[in-house]
Amino acid sequence: MSPLHRPRAAALGVLAAAALATTLGVPSVSGVTTASAAPSGASTSTSANATASTSRGQEPEVADLAEEHRVLQPETAAVSIGVTTSTAPLSPKCTQPGTSGNRVQAVYAYYGSLPNRIGSLKPYIIDAMKRANGIVAASARQTGGSRQLRIATSANCQPSVAVAHLSSSAAPSFAKTASELTAKGYVHSTRKYMVFADARYICGLGQTYNDDQPGRKNRNNLGPQFARVDLGCWSGSAAAHEIFHTLGAVQKSAPHSDTALHCRDEKDLMCYSGAAGTSVYTSSTCTTTVLDERLDCNKNDYFHTNPKAGSYLATHWNTARSSFLWGGGPTYG
Ligand SMILES: [Zn+2]
Repeated sequence: MSPLHRPRAAALGVLAAAALATTLGVPSVSGVTTASAAPSGASTSTSANATASTSRGQEPEVADLAEEHRVLQPETAAVSIGVTTSTAPLSPKCTQPGTSGNRVQAVYAYYGSLPNRIGSLKPYIIDAMKRANGIVAASARQTGGSRQLRIATSANCQPSVAVAHLSSSAAPSFAKTASELTAKGYVHSTRKYMVFADARYICGLGQTYNDDQPGRKNRNNLGPQFARVDLGCWSGSAAAHEIFHTLGAVQKSAPHSDTALHCRDEKDLMCYSGAAGTSVYTSSTCTTTVLDERLDCNKNDYFHTNPKAGSYLATHWNTARSSFLWGGGPTYG
């Protein structure tokens, strides 16, 4: 995982960075089991990887919530993405309309009586979406392929940003953010919703289905799914990380899974250097810093544009084949 997701106590002016594994509640919504994010009221920075839900009543219709490090920042911090992404922004593919087919839709959410700041914050969201796109393109090039996010765009081919006003009680809750958005019509099977929350409760969260079957019928090849990043983690790498949870990374059957929807081959966009609830991680497999902003550093766990016949990614879900990517696979349905 990128450095931005690691506890950076000094930079944040907080003291503690404790590993916390949380088994989250599992309310069942529309046949899909999602895990809810518990509100965090701590005054210290904690890192948390959600352990997986064990509810299997609707298998494989089970969504796990991949929870990132909780980072509470001083409210006095300037409005900024808080972290930087080195990968250059890449403008989304320009199509007209920019809404056809499967798309990753950026959503700005503001809460309760707090002001709508889309005017001043939109450039950060657009930049994060473009850098996330750059990360995907650069990752695909590593295996000789070509992929980009199918980003929903406006008439001028910029990432479009939907604006949603949610209740104050939804601010500390991923689950409530998702349910209120659902009630407002964010329900389309052709959409993965990347929510940029004007709040400071978490770093990021994303929904992943436990479904490792290859092919277009993988449940992660269909929307709607939600991801969220909060202020302090409005970056291209955080957005890419959460978006790829919604695309199905990292399945627990992956060779280097940490069994909590991440991987252990750090450095890697989706890996952490320690696994939630375990201590099985021993050494760095991928050491080049740039790999923190690349998908699947060894291209053997969740992303390969042309996996070898018989390999794990040829026989299981491979996010490079997602229908939410240009150059990916066919749609579900
Ligand atoms: Zn994650």
